Order: sequence, then C-alpha cells, then structure tokens
Amino acid sequence: MRALAIAVGAAVLLAFAAVVWVDSLFREPDARKIESLTGALGARTLLAVFAHPDDEISAAGALADAASNGVRVYVVTATRGEKGKADFSVSSSDELARIREAELRAHTRALGVTEQQVWHFPDSQVDRDIPALSQRIAAEIERIAPDAILSFHPESGLTYHRDHRAVGEATVRAIAATGSPARLVQLLVPAAMMRTFAGERGALVAKNQPPATWAMPIDSRIKRRAWTIHASQAGFIRRVYKVSPWVLYFFFDEEHYFVPEPRR
Ligand SMILES: [Zn+2]
Repeated sequence: MRALAIAVGAAVLLAFAAVVWVDSLFREPDARKIESLTGALGARTLLAVFAHPDDEISAAGALADAASNGVRVYVVTATRGEKGKADFSVSSSDELARIREAELRAHTRALGVTEQQVWHFPDSQVDRDIPALSQRIAAEIERIAPDAILSFHPESGLTYHRDHRAVGEATVRAIAATGSPARLVQLLVPAAMMRTFAGERGALVAKNQPPATWAMPIDSRIKRRAWTIHASQAGFIRRVYKVSPWVLYFFFDEEHYFVPEPRR
C-alpha cells in the first residue's frame, strides 16, 4: 500500500514538473509584460501586413484587443494562399484561394478588423518582387497613416517561410520609403519552444529572430476559434505540432513582439 502511494505521488510530481517545463518553453522571461499592444504603443490606427490567409492568427490576440479598444485596424494579406493545402478535397488552386479568402474575411470580421485587403501576389513566390510589394505597402501607409505597423521579422519570418520573410522585408522598406513615424512591431514565436518542438526549421527561426521586447497575454479561445473559422486549415495544428489546438493553446497563451526603439 505504502509503495503504491509513493509511486502515485512520484508520478503526479513528474507530471507536474513536465507541465511546468513545457510551460516555461512558451515564455520569454526577459520580455516586458504588457496588457495591450496598441495600448502600450498609444496607437489609434494599426496596419498589419501578412503573407497568407491564416497568418493573422499569430497576431489574433493583438488584433482583437486593438479592435475592442476602438483602434482602427487595417489588415493586408499579400496572397490568396493558393499554394496551400486543404483538409478536404478542392478542385483547383483557384477554388482553394476563394475558400481561403472567404475564411480570412470571416475571421478578421469576427476580430472586429476595420478593413481587410487581399492582394494577389503569387503564393510561395512573394520574394520574387519585393520592390512591387513594398510600393504597394507604402501606398497603404500613405493612405491610412497608421501609428503602428505589425508584420513579420525579415530574417525569421515567424516560421522561416520565404513569403513571411519577404513581407517583413517589404514592410521595413515601405516604412523607410515613406518616412512614416509609425512604430514597427514584428511578430515572434517563443524561441525555446521552436528549438524543442519544431525541428531544424524551428532552430532556424529561433536563431534568426531577435529577443522578444514585449509579451502580451491572450485569451486562447480566440486562437481556437480562428482555426475553426479557417476550416480548410483546421488540421494544421495537429499536422505541425502533433497535438490538438486545445493542448497547444493551453501553453501558448501569450503573443511575443519585437518592438525596435523609435528612429530619431
Ligand atoms: Zn503564412
């Protein structure tokens, strides 16, 4: 009886230690804790620039928080995601693009986004014409006059996807070309988690992204809802992380950002 009690106690302790360890992989202890991204920036107009329908999920916490605080939120998605995969059969890449665009629009509407634009840069080839993309983003910056601009980091691209890195680079160039005073925010993923769970690609991301400046807690339900709306991609989390979205977002309940000091 006593031996059984000790064994059960040890198992419970081990399980607890494992949860604490996994949880620690999703933290950036040196990042400043903030409650609201746009609140911390004092931003009233936010422009977010992504590559594919569903990329906005990685910033869904910030977008939802901004919109619910009355910030005007403009989202640009550079491609229609026609080179992606769907969880069900589709007849053509054009059909997939139409489905993914509709999912994206439904999702950003649910987040309270002011305006969603979907551009037709070629999926998986965005890096072929960074100057054209940069010009287009610059025109948006001039039209909207945002005081914060959120995108990918040009060297890590959140997942190291070439389109993400190209969008990050084009956004940096557009800000420089317009001389916009907007604060730049680049999306990051927890580096320790990427190194531990995401293989070679994860190690590349962790190596190439800057240290997180800020960490913002998010309501995980927003991310789980996002994958429900993006129904053609609903199996993505299981495919990539080998866990259910519920398990992933139990731990992944912060968003991390790199926020460079304003230029003088
Ligand atoms: Zn993407």
